[in-house]
Amino acid sequence: MYAVNNNDFAPRIEITFNCTSGHEFTKTFAADVSVPPTWECPHCGQFGAQCTQTITPMSAPSRKTHWDMILERRDMDELSVMLLERVDELHRPN
Ligand SMILES: [Zn+2]
Repeated sequence: MYAVNNNDFAPRIEITFNCTSGHEFTKTFAADVSVPPTWECPHCGQFGAQCTQTITPMSAPSRKTHWDMILERRDMDELSVMLLERVDELHRPN
């Protein structure tokens, strides 16, 4: 079994802000940082207040490992043959 540790990818949260001109915009933050209560509106430059009701935890995007990419190109039968060939090559006397 090939287990990969993806714990280094911080979970994210998406937070919606509302500026005083009525624009609504969303920013994504790492879940473990303290989110500022206001953020500059990308539409008008005024500061928008955090709308806490829309905080949504997001799952970390899946990351492909080298093993995942190999499995996309080869099936296990091919990989078994390649492994045996390589082991045989390594055990061959010089
Ligand atoms: Zn605005």
